Amino acid sequence: MTTMLTKAKVLEPMEPNRATKLFGGEASGILNWNDIKYPHFYEIREEIRAQFWIAAEVDMTPDVKQFATLTAAEQDAYLKIIGLLATLDAPQTDLAAKLADFTTDPSVKSIMATVADQESEHNHSYAYVLSSVTDLNGQIEAFEMGRRDPVLLKRNERIVEIYNEFAETPTIETALKAMVYTSLLEGMYFYSAFAYFYNLARHNKMVATSTMISFINRDELQHARFISELFRATLAENPEYNNEQFIEWVYDQYRHNVEMEKEWATYVLSDVEGIEMEDMIGYIKYRANKMLRMMGLSEIYEDYYDNPMKWIRAYVDNFDGVKTDFFEQKSRQYTKTSDLNGFDDL
Ligand code: ZN
Ligand code: ZN
Repeated sequence: MTTMLTKAKVLEPMEPNRATKLFGGEASGILNWNDIKYPHFYEIREEIRAQFWIAAEVDMTPDVKQFATLTAAEQDAYLKIIGLLATLDAPQTDLAAKLADFTTDPSVKSIMATVADQESEHNHSYAYVLSSVTDLNGQIEAFEMGRRDPVLLKRNERIVEIYNEFAETPTIETALKAMVYTSLLEGMYFYSAFAYFYNLARHNKMVATSTMISFINRDELQHARFISELFRATLAENPEYNNEQFIEWVYDQYRHNVEMEKEWATYVLSDVEGIEMEDMIGYIKYRANKMLRMMGLSEIYEDYYDNPMKWIRAYVDNFDGVKTDFFEQKSRQYTKTSDLNGFDDL
């Protein structure tokens, strides 16, 4: 079962418009959204498209002044966390493009094109945010984190391995593994980082940054949802991987990455006021359970079925029940921060 996937051709008019398989199938390359193999991908496509935004829409002026008033620990965590997000989000543009290259379903290629575009804006937004709060040297340093910081390097070891393996040896198995790591990244890795910024915002600090983060967060929730659906469908089409060994591998990756996330969160957040490490670890486990469930698997952390940091719901928690109302979100940057503090009602 180690057949290498070949890059899908661009146009193959003799093949059907409706793809026969997600990977290694036949498709003409002509995309009719009303005649696709997985009709629910259309709904996801519409939701992802509806979230369009650009970094320049967020006015960073209030944060420019406020950054200097943060404690040293808050400033340090801020820069480290942007460094982490920039490191992890940068390859997502390319990974989306690589999955698009190898899928034979044009609807997946099309969705991945939108995902790649959003990832490109995420990456740009980290540079945009950093340029508001620190000089060029500080910006360069934050972007160097992913190459130099030993805790971050250790934390990212496996994702580097799995993503590069798919790039170098594209097979169904390496594609599935890359999807699992994308689910970890978009559904779990980012969330302690997001929580840090929302915690600042609920103390009326760096609200513009948190607005930007909430835009990214909403995109990632949709991406995580799509990658889960793609994983399930790919597994269903290739039942030879739907076996105990592979599924155990997935659970192992989740367990390992929850541990890595704990180490990382302790490293950057333990001196920051307002976030209890126990709650943060609970939140990470809750996210892990949630992603596994979305991928059609079982939860692995008992008692972590609900978000232990309920106040996060005031920002972006998950898309269940969160109607993506672009204008509502967009207006947040103009909302007085005191208006955002109705956490307990949510
Ligand atoms: Zn992203
Ligand atoms: Zn994403």
